[in-house]
Amino acid sequence: VSSSPIAQKAINPSGFKKSNNKTKLINDALINHISDIDHEVCEAGEEDSFFVCDLGEVSRSFQTWKQRLPQVHPHYAVKCNTDMQVIGLLNKLGANFDCASKNEIDTILSLGVSPDRIVYANPCKTNSFIRHARQSNVNLTTVDNVQELHKLKQFHPDCGILIRIATDDETAQCRLSTKFGCSLDNAINELLPLAKELGLTVRGVAFHVGSGAKDFDSIYKAIRDARLIFEQGIEKYHFDNSMNILDIGGGFELETFEESSRVVTESLQEFFSNDFIDQYNIRFIAEPGRFMVSNAFTLATHIIARRDIDKSVNSDIKAMVYINDGVYGNMNCILFDHQHPQGFVLQHKEKFYYEQQQPEQEWTIAEKDSYFFSIWGPTCDGLDCVSTKTKLTHDVAVGDWIYFPNLGAYTSAATTSFNGFKGKAHIIYVSSETNE
Ligand code: PLP
Repeated sequence: VSSSPIAQKAINPSGFKKSNNKTKLINDALINHISDIDHEVCEAGEEDSFFVCDLGEVSRSFQTWKQRLPQVHPHYAVKCNTDMQVIGLLNKLGANFDCASKNEIDTILSLGVSPDRIVYANPCKTNSFIRHARQSNVNLTTVDNVQELHKLKQFHPDCGILIRIATDDETAQCRLSTKFGCSLDNAINELLPLAKELGLTVRGVAFHVGSGAKDFDSIYKAIRDARLIFEQGIEKYHFDNSMNILDIGGGFELETFEESSRVVTESLQEFFSNDFIDQYNIRFIAEPGRFMVSNAFTLATHIIARRDIDKSVNSDIKAMVYINDGVYGNMNCILFDHQHPQGFVLQHKEKFYYEQQQPEQEWTIAEKDSYFFSIWGPTCDGLDCVSTKTKLTHDVAVGDWIYFPNLGAYTSAATTSFNGFKGKAHIIYVSSETNE
């Protein structure tokens, strides 16, 4: 499958193609790859779906973060996309890491990352994973309940603790505070005193306003509440030598970052004055996932079947189109992450599949007419629906390709091989200029 020149570059990261035109770069990568595939004779699987990853987008996102929130050090949330090129690049750029499991910790440590650059940001941990964190020298974790404090006392008593508080994340794309986070009252009246009693070390406060957050007031309120916990922890429970980390979690998106980063900056200024920061040596960290990778990945899928809607049916949908990736594969984000991927058509200039003649081997990004289709994944499950109704930029046929931009977050990380289909897709790496 990797016979195209661009695909070969994936094996040699130092040979990444550079371009000033990132759209063209991605389109060229898509077209180069699929031009090599003749689906009438290719081996089974050669026409599998694949990603094009633009590492330049990851770099740009990281730079944008550093420009807008220079005072908040990002710990990339590994769960969001575990691709090693992306993780390696973020490591090189200076990001730290948020890991939620033993495997994620091991993955990051295997890169030679120092364990003090990892926050084990899972408030409900397996005992053996806590012991593993201790053996690995990972000494910072989040906690939102008393049982977890007892577990830490038993298995990792020297671990620094960030008390994770719940936020108002009702409007977020994916809520997290329905599952994690304690109340302010709980933090102050239960967790702080118990941590003191057990001789544990409270390092600070953590929160997450929900993935794909829409309401940035919740950032303001969480930072305000965090300040109250710092005050109580320092004044009442004498954690003044240890409480110096505020972890503002994830939830950020490039599209709304101007506003969300402004709210972070203003809230930090209001509740964490320079005097307070200097007195206790306070550090701000965050756990962005989606922000770093979402727009760096484009998924290309192959149309494997089409069923026209019976003309007697009163429907504006022209046909049901079946592609070779879906909600059990790299588009699980539709179910798990409430995403609505938008597809665009790549097609041959000639419809040679029907004409039985050697075609003009040229692919174009189709942009002419538009029709409504429903799009379905390849498995035998009726749930495997990519879209019940979507407008495609062109009529489509078996053998055409549909590509979906912005599929870097919560996609490849949660694929399955249900029905025997390939889970993770092959990735072709390119890198657009970082200063575009
Ligand atoms: N931190 C924690 C604890 C999370 O649970 C998540 C996502 O679920 C993240 C960070 C990353 O969030 P996002 O991708 O919205 O930035």
